[in-house]
Amino acid sequence: MVRINENYQKLQGSYLFSTIAKKVGEYSAANPDKKIIRLGIGDVTRPLTPSVISALHASVDEMADEKTFRGYAPDLGYDFLRHAVCENDFKARGCDIAEDEIFISDGAKPDSGNIQEIFDINCRIAVCDPVYPVYVDSNVMAGRAGDYDKSTGRYSNIIYLEGTAENNFSPDLPKEPADIIYLCSPNNPTGMAMNKTELGRWVDYAGKNGAVIIFDAAYEAYISEDDVPHSIFEIEGAKECAIELRSFSKNAGFTGLRLGYAVVPKDLVRGGVSLNSLWARRHATKYNGAPYIVQRAGEAVYSSEGKKEIRGLVDYYMENAKYIAQGLKSAGYTLFGGVNSPYIWLATPDNMTSWEFFDHLLENANVVGTPGVGFGACGEGYFRLTSFGTHENTREAVDRICSL
Ligand code: PLP
Repeated sequence: MVRINENYQKLQGSYLFSTIAKKVGEYSAANPDKKIIRLGIGDVTRPLTPSVISALHASVDEMADEKTFRGYAPDLGYDFLRHAVCENDFKARGCDIAEDEIFISDGAKPDSGNIQEIFDINCRIAVCDPVYPVYVDSNVMAGRAGDYDKSTGRYSNIIYLEGTAENNFSPDLPKEPADIIYLCSPNNPTGMAMNKTELGRWVDYAGKNGAVIIFDAAYEAYISEDDVPHSIFEIEGAKECAIELRSFSKNAGFTGLRLGYAVVPKDLVRGGVSLNSLWARRHATKYNGAPYIVQRAGEAVYSSEGKKEIRGLVDYYMENAKYIAQGLKSAGYTLFGGVNSPYIWLATPDNMTSWEFFDHLLENANVVGTPGVGFGACGEGYFRLTSFGTHENTREAVDRICSL
């Protein structure tokens, strides 16, 4: 008889978002006249920009003509997109990345879940706490995690790097040896971003210890401060120890269109084997390429009009972030993030737990956010608000919270 992958049995249910949905559903059923504003979602709300839409239309027309029709895309990505990515995201920032180190994909979530496949099952992973859950769950599925402890909300055999107010949510280096280190900057959920010095110590650590950093830069477009690196490859030595993941979701609004890429440098070698060739082999076997029309839309993001439009999207959300941060600060909240990121991470008032504060906001301000504890034990006592809503809703939500 077939046996299932028992590792899946260790996964915890997606308690966080299902509980939020249940609580909000119950509250709105009991209070149908109340307007609930959701600042909990990590999804964008602005539509795709004109350059992207016209690239989509043009490429759809190409698909309708036998002279320009395209079938399977090259599995590592079309040259036109790899070229645009390489020139704009790396060479323009002084990073020496080559086109054949760029692997086009359908997003940073699949890449961050899949990348662990090229590493040995006995590698120990280190994640920050709080954390974007995909890094942990994909390794649980693969069998790299031990038992789950309900009282701590942690798996044995995974190294948790604690982010706290004291370290400004920039965790210390691991005290026990870590092989694969997941870093996300600007960070989801804390909204904090590492500066060059902070990121530099991770590159040093990985270089000295033979570890590999998986650097998730999905929120790179939101960086506003000069000393925050947009790419880990701005740090010397990173090409020998890091893989970077990028997304078109949060900068260009491709959450529904799906496009991203991974950078696996050829200098990244472990056990005498190039990780670039391993990832190419994996991609070629399991992935048949992002759709042509979506890659053309991605190319349009790098046109001069496209860049202006994307800037406009990011500015729109960051105006919300500013409004949230200013409003809540003046109401006496302790806040993190919101400067290089669309996320605002606030300390709950009056020693409320994350869930107590969730209920408090839902019932008294009719505003929905995300309890920090859902991202890990260190998130207890914190709460995430996002700036992906409309200006109108964001303002109304903040005004309601401030007048509580
Ligand atoms: N990485 C992080 C840290 C995220 O927060 C998200 C989405 O919320 C993603 C990746 C997903 O990116 P994509 O839409 O490209 O799969």
